[in-house]
Amino acid sequence: MVRYRGITKSFGSHQVLDRIDLDIRPGEKVALIGPSGSGKTTLARLLMTLEEPTSGTIEVDGEQLWHMERKGRLVPADEKHLHRVRGKIGMVFQHFNLFPHMNILRNVTEAMVLVQRMPKEEAEARALAMLERVGLQERTKHYPAQLSGGQKQRVAIARALVMQPNIMLFDEVTSALDPELVGEVLDVIKNVAAEGEMAMMLITHEMDFARDIADRVLFTDGGRIVEQGTPEQIFENPRSERLQSFLTRFR
Ligand code: ATP
Repeated sequence: MVRYRGITKSFGSHQVLDRIDLDIRPGEKVALIGPSGSGKTTLARLLMTLEEPTSGTIEVDGEQLWHMERKGRLVPADEKHLHRVRGKIGMVFQHFNLFPHMNILRNVTEAMVLVQRMPKEEAEARALAMLERVGLQERTKHYPAQLSGGQKQRVAIARALVMQPNIMLFDEVTSALDPELVGEVLDVIKNVAAEGEMAMMLITHEMDFARDIADRVLFTDGGRIVEQGTPEQIFENPRSERLQSFLTRFR
């Protein structure tokens, strides 16, 4: 469903990703682990179309992100094409990125109404059901500043999920949280993952979480996928020295 081919990304003379090939199947849960600066976030931002690759292609459901077919030829994508492909992807960031001047219900309904052009009543019904699923049905009239970090992150997850993406990207969603709030956010993600149908790319420094949730773990270093396998292969039998040395930091 998602296919990266030969993806290279440079910022000026700094090459951050080096010829990445990666396929993510429908419903597959992929965890990305690796040292800081190894290119994990950039890999996710490229899929979210927040960055454009320097070279290589990314396809979602057989359609390229930055190109579209017109009269049998590939031409640069227009806004409409990007918008449609982007609609298949949801992303949750480390720093929540909620709209501070909107209450929680509106934070969750806004994109359904503005982007998907859904009637307000229907969007609110969906938002309420999703807020209940993340345990925040009592907080719908609060504003982001009135919530804890863990609650804010659960709103951000609900806001992405109501758009019904085919794949969700979670970028270190617990890194900015106080330790006692990490569990509630990871539990919500685990519950969503257990429902099965949605693919996920999880960038995380929580190795136990990656082990619990992922079908496949990728270890990135120096802009390359150095090693990948099942959680058991990666955590119990790491082959490369770089991965072995990386994992010792979490023991
Ligand atoms: P972390 O775990 O610290 O988030 P990461 O593996 O996610 O790291 P990236 O955030 O993808 O790594 O960053 C890879 C490299 O690219 C870093 O050296 C970073 O400074 C650089 N980089 C990322 N975005 C930009 C940008 N917009 N302009 C210039 N350099 C950038």
